[in-house]
Amino acid sequence: MSVNEFELIARYFTGQQAEASGLVLGIGDDAAVLECPSDQQLVVTTDTLNAGIHFPKDTDAADIARKALSVNLSDIAAMGARPAFFTLSLCLPDADETWLQAFSRGLFEVATGSQVCLVGGDTTRGPLSVSITLFGYVSPGQAISRAHAQPGDCVYVSGTMGDAAIGLRIIGSDLTMEAEHRAYFIGRLNCPTPKTTLGQMLVGRASAMIDVSDGLLADIGKLIKSSHVGAAINVDQVPTSAYADSYFNQNTLLQLALTGGDDYELCFTIAPELEQDLLQQVGQLHIPVTKIGYITAGSDLSCKHADGQIYAAQGSGYDHFV
Ligand code: ADP
Ligand code: MG
Repeated sequence: MSVNEFELIARYFTGQQAEASGLVLGIGDDAAVLECPSDQQLVVTTDTLNAGIHFPKDTDAADIARKALSVNLSDIAAMGARPAFFTLSLCLPDADETWLQAFSRGLFEVATGSQVCLVGGDTTRGPLSVSITLFGYVSPGQAISRAHAQPGDCVYVSGTMGDAAIGLRIIGSDLTMEAEHRAYFIGRLNCPTPKTTLGQMLVGRASAMIDVSDGLLADIGKLIKSSHVGAAINVDQVPTSAYADSYFNQNTLLQLALTGGDDYELCFTIAPELEQDLLQQVGQLHIPVTKIGYITAGSDLSCKHADGQIYAAQGSGYDHFV
């Protein structure tokens, strides 16, 4: 290593952010000390990105950092919580300073933009892996779990589905695409935008929520299983990016939208009587959300086209162990 572990931490991770409120003791001691507001509950999540599994080995270091933090922010958003602090466990094959510089830049760009503060971590040597633990706050009892969807609730998603899966297809393929479109899809794969504002806005409104990371149908499947309900999805309502139409036929695009991973959008359920108020709120903030179906009694996930024809799903989302 050209720099030792302590120099590396000091150079790339210490003192990179303004003082955060609630931070009693940050990087540099045996552990961090944080103030938890007395009227809030702590919400904690961890996500790891491994080279070659969660991102191609040659992904730009700034993008790896952005994604590692963004996927954790997405989990906190999916609980309706406000993100506050995080720790970083970094496993590096070597201390490449050019790589570290880019990683640190990407990391603090997202951290500062999301108002979260790095408070500690661990640095080891081995195959490239980035693990982040993120801490957030929510009012007592207000966290939005996956488990309380009710029959009759509307099912909504934010943004567009399948963009990251398209990005993954583009990398290393000979698909010709306009440079601007190519950058958009690869950007959606490498640098997802966590839906932090929407997540918090849904507190007191959504009955259940999950972030879409393994593929829309797979994640709806998890939500309905937790809630002991079924769902009826109109696949023709599932929003896809306008650009995508010109590169894929409808079937392929639908499959990417329904089963492709890494969207990091929010999927939530809401009682019909709360729908209008929500639509007004998101409309004012220009946050795109789309109704794609309903929660049903029972346990089936039914996917149909607008004309009533059954959609035969191919593939069912990402699973590390199958
Ligand atoms: P210890 O041996 O007591 O676990 P370390 O030597 O691993 O401490 O880390 C020293 C300090 O640097 C700790 O405060 C730790 O939280 C912090 N730290 C280590 N690695 C990172 C990292 N990648 N990002 C941020 N802080 C880190
Ligand atoms: Mg340590």
